[in-house]
Amino acid sequence: MLAIVHSCSTEVDNSRKAPDLSSPIASEHLRYKKPSAVSGRTNVVAITPWLAPIVWEGTFDSALLDAIYAPRDITVAVTVTAVGKYIRFLKDFLETAEQHFFVGFKVHYYVFTDQPDQIPAVKMAAGRQLFVRQAANAKRWQDISAARFKGIANLIDTELRDGADYVFCLDVDSKFHAHWGTESLGQLVAVIHPGYYNLQLQFSQLPYERRPESKAVMSADEGDFYYAGGAFGGEPSSVHHMLSMCNDNFEQDARRGIEAAWGEESHLNQFFWFNKPTKLLSPEYQWQDMQAKGTPEVKIIRFSGIIKDYADIRPGWEG
Ligand code: UDP
Ligand code: MN
Repeated sequence: MLAIVHSCSTEVDNSRKAPDLSSPIASEHLRYKKPSAVSGRTNVVAITPWLAPIVWEGTFDSALLDAIYAPRDITVAVTVTAVGKYIRFLKDFLETAEQHFFVGFKVHYYVFTDQPDQIPAVKMAAGRQLFVRQAANAKRWQDISAARFKGIANLIDTELRDGADYVFCLDVDSKFHAHWGTESLGQLVAVIHPGYYNLQLQFSQLPYERRPESKAVMSADEGDFYYAGGAFGGEPSSVHHMLSMCNDNFEQDARRGIEAAWGEESHLNQFFWFNKPTKLLSPEYQWQDMQAKGTPEVKIIRFSGIIKDYADIRPGWEG
C-alpha cells in the first residue's frame, strides 16, 4: 500500500528494539542452489585479495538474502545532499529509489539541503520516510561536497547509531535503474569507481592524491581499487569512524592550504587503503551515464550519475 509520506519531520522514532543480527539463519537454512566450483561469473573478479566479496550481478541470490533480512526488520538510512541548484535532482533520485532501492524494507531518507521548502512530494511505500536536515550553501562546489562528511558523521552520532542498522551515502545527481538491495549490506561497503575498473593501469596511474603535503597521500606503488566518492556505506559506527578520520584529514589539509586531487574522494580512497572495506560493490552500483550503456562486465546498471551541465549548476566552477 502506498502512503504519501512527505513529512519534513525532524523527529525519528528510535524506540524500536534493535534486531538480532548475530546469527544469519534463513528460513531456508541458507539453502542455495547446488554451487559449482567451475561455473559462474568468469569475466569479473568476485573476491578481493583480502577476501572481501565483490558484488556483481550473478553472484547473489536476492530472494534468499531478503528472506534472511526481512524478519529482522532492518532500517536502511540513506543520506543525500541537495544544496543550491542540485535540489532539482532530488525528485528523480527519490522516485527511482522508491522503485529500486531496498524495496520492501524500511528506508529513511535524510536529505541535507539549504531549501527545505523545495523538497518535492514523492509517494513513498509504507515504512519509508523522508527527513530533512539543514545544510549550508557555499561559494565553491568542492566545499559543499566535502561538508557532507561532517554533516553525515554528526547525523550518525546523534541519530543513526540507534536509528538505523545500515547507512548509505549517495550523490543526488543520480538515478536508480535496477535492483539495489540486501546483497549490498556489510560493515564497511565501498563501490568500485566506474572510470577505473577496467583499465590496465599501474597503481601510479590511478588518480589518488600523490603529493606528500596532503594527508590523503598515497605513494606511487600504493593502492588497490579506486573507489567512488558518490556511493559508500555500511554499519553506522563504521561509517562514522571513516567519515571522522577523512574529515579530520581534510580539515588539516585545508588549514595548510592544500586540497586533495579529488577532494573528499581522495581521503576516502586513502582510508580504504589502510582500512579495507568488508564488501565491495561493482560499478553496477555507481555508473556514469556519460559512459557506455553497459559492458560485457556491467550487465545491469543499478545506479548512475546523470549527465549534467557543470557550468550551470556548480558554484565556483572553473572548468
Ligand atoms: N552537491 C550539492 N550542491 C552543489 C554541489 C554538490 O548538493 O552545488 C552535492 C550533491 O549531493 C552532489 C555531490 O555533492 O551529488 C557531489 O558533487 P557532484 O555530483 O557535482 O560531483 P561529481 O559526481 O560530478 O564528481
Ligand atoms: Mn555526482
